[in-house]
Amino acid sequence: MQDVFSYADELGPGKVVHVYEPSVGLKAILVVDNVAPGPSIGGLRMAVDVGLEECFRLARAMTMKNAAAGLPHGGGKAVLYGDPGMPKTEKERLIRGLACSLRNVEEYIFAPDMGTNEECMAWVKDEIGRVVGLPREFGGIPLDEIGATGWGIRHVAEIAVQYCGFELQGARFVVQGFGAVGKNAARFLAEQGAVLVGAADSRGVIHNPDGLDVEALVALKEEGRGVSDYADAKRLGRDAASDIECEIWIPAARPDVIREDNVGRLNTRLVIQGANIPVTHGAERVLHEKGVLCVPDFIANAGGVICAAMEYQNASEAAALQAIEEKLRRNTRLVLERVRSEGIMPREAAVALALRRVKKVMGLRRWSLFSSAPGFV
Ligand code: NAD
Repeated sequence: MQDVFSYADELGPGKVVHVYEPSVGLKAILVVDNVAPGPSIGGLRMAVDVGLEECFRLARAMTMKNAAAGLPHGGGKAVLYGDPGMPKTEKERLIRGLACSLRNVEEYIFAPDMGTNEECMAWVKDEIGRVVGLPREFGGIPLDEIGATGWGIRHVAEIAVQYCGFELQGARFVVQGFGAVGKNAARFLAEQGAVLVGAADSRGVIHNPDGLDVEALVALKEEGRGVSDYADAKRLGRDAASDIECEIWIPAARPDVIREDNVGRLNTRLVIQGANIPVTHGAERVLHEKGVLCVPDFIANAGGVICAAMEYQNASEAAALQAIEEKLRRNTRLVLERVRSEGIMPREAAVALALRRVKKVMGLRRWSLFSSAPGFV
């Protein structure tokens, strides 16, 4: 009891649900953080080592991301205990079981996250219908295939360079994590004339100051090979991506990649956070003091959730890309204008923007978090 309420503050969480069904080994937690703006959208994460605290932090991050993006959705997250690589029949049973047990929790819309994919979302659709991130055949917009988050990063970059005093055309950039987010960001930035000079995946780091061929690298990855298999580049040590001189550095892999102990190695002018929490708050402060602009994760990587929210409204792929472009350009400008005029850190400006939007809708509810109006969720 005390444990659950120890996370509670003025924003939420509004509901914490513990799901347990021993007959099939189902154990899961759902945290619905703040649903003042509307039903929460947040991924279903499947892993062996998740817990309540992590679920709460991830749900809160979605509250901030959805609010900053001006979506009519609050933040939530579900975690399902288990090895995502387990036999498919067992995984399907667990996910269908979880969906059934959450059938009436209308404040939560399922979405994919680590350990789950569009096929898992199709099982949820079949059981309860309330889900995004579906296969195309079910009306879904495959956000990783179309590169929704990378598309957003390109637009963030176009605005952010104006605050850094250099042009995107000819700017050198590095992508740390050449997966769904990273490779698509690379593709869209290269289309704008930026030059990819470094790339890293879990198996290696490559560097060529004259530029890497993005399409050739993407093709390598699609064949299941690593960036180190690219011929025309120098191979560097595992952590060396941070040392590569560039104008734009894009973390698109794991959390906490840049910390106070290694932030001094970065040799760049702009960091655009494609991954979630890739730079610790302490390291963000160091960058700010050095005059390196760092666009926070929940502003920069919101393309994926905007796409999911558009799918929920049955919008087309083209409309989803248009919404990402408009929202991310506007938000980046709003945040960076405040940074420029008040000298505050980008994260402070971004948090203030998200909080202002959440509190505005909370002020329109009789209770702060929820409403009993029909069709509210
Ligand atoms: P992904 O699994 O498709 O790609 C991750 C990439 O990072 C892979 O190429 C992997 O090899 C690489 N990687 C892993 N460990 C690494 C390391 N130590 N050094 C260098 N590279 C490493 O995942 P993704 O969907 O691209 O997501 C990346 C990050 O972005 C995650 O933090 C995710 O939560 C976040 N994110 C994703 C989306 C989205 O739309 N997919 C949206 C918002 C945030």
